[in-house]
Amino acid sequence: MTVSSSLSVAKNGRVLIAGATGFIGRFVAEASLAAGQPTYVLVRPGPLRPSKADTVKSFKDKGAIILHGLISDKTLMEKMLREHEIEIVISAVGGATILDQITLVDAIAAVGTVKRFLPSEFGHDVDRADPVEPGLTMYLEKRKVRRSVETSGVPYTYICCNSIASWPYFDNTHPSEVLPPLDRFQIYGDGTVKAYFVDGTDIGKFTMKTVDDMRTINKNVHFRPPSNLYDINGLASLWEKKIGRTLPRVTVTEDHLLALAADNRIPESIVASFTHDIFIKGCQVNFAVEGPHDVEVGTLYPGDSFRTLDECFDGFLLKLKDNLELELLQEEEDQKVSTENTVVESRTVTATCA
Ligand code: NDP
Repeated sequence: MTVSSSLSVAKNGRVLIAGATGFIGRFVAEASLAAGQPTYVLVRPGPLRPSKADTVKSFKDKGAIILHGLISDKTLMEKMLREHEIEIVISAVGGATILDQITLVDAIAAVGTVKRFLPSEFGHDVDRADPVEPGLTMYLEKRKVRRSVETSGVPYTYICCNSIASWPYFDNTHPSEVLPPLDRFQIYGDGTVKAYFVDGTDIGKFTMKTVDDMRTINKNVHFRPPSNLYDINGLASLWEKKIGRTLPRVTVTEDHLLALAADNRIPESIVASFTHDIFIKGCQVNFAVEGPHDVEVGTLYPGDSFRTLDECFDGFLLKLKDNLELELLQEEEDQKVSTENTVVESRTVTATCA
């Protein structure tokens, strides 16, 4: 195995992002392009769903170079890394393909010129957090990838950004595009265990700040913005303030979360096990960021602010209003169509009678 002799990444080092069409990867790719970094986006071969094709087009319009391939294809990955002189590789592949990253690590190590690898982490510190199954299986896989990176000697950064700023529904399949509730709040346990909620654009922005920063080499970078530390009771109160009314609060017990996790329905049970780990066991807050391999992103970049959760909730409210307006418009449209149909039908009846 050969590892690059110099660890310092050029300010405009070429970045390859795998998983950029995914939920988290999109924020990272947008931030890379916004930072003016030469950005290469790896897209899986084959037809793309229209929404993903739009995403790829928007990257291209902003100057990204689109490459096609799978991270599990070692030969192709080596060729790409060499041909495009990639210095930074960021992976944001999803839960089902975490282990494919081991082949990517092998390719990076064989090429020997990549100066930083960020594996698909973007959540908790998986060496510390210990969720029940089936969430544990995903963490065991992420730990395996960590060990393969460390053994390879490739310089790395692990992004531990905690929760994305969205409503933490325990029975949801994925946090994308979900708005806080309008009927009732489901409060986990006594609702007093805190967690960090980070806006997606900040996950992208601060991830990109770390990639050429010598202080983040071989470190866990923890995202702990004080303005975004809330328990679920506080989250509910914040939303009530935004919508101008109170909602009933229903307790979801620890036993309920554990039973849903034990059902082993994928992905719902994985979300239940993470909800249990965050809001019952306190996995985001039950340790201090003080180990030799730990840094907190706010201390690295004190001049850069995070979007507060309060601002994120303003955004949710706007989205909600947009959705309601769209629904009203749709209702009006449906009404118009049904009136027109009524007229057409009555004419038909008249004609038939004649
Ligand atoms: P998604 O499933 O939304 O996206 C995965 C991406 O990886 C897609 O672009 C997919 O391509 C691509 N991909 C998958 N396999 C391969 C492969 N073999 N080669 C190349 N590309 C591949 O993932 P998420 O954004 O949900 O998850 C990314 C990471 O973020 C995970 O580690 C997850 O645990 C974490 N996460 C953290 C959250 C938080 O709140 N902190 C929330 C959600 C996720 P295609 O478009 O073709 O499918």
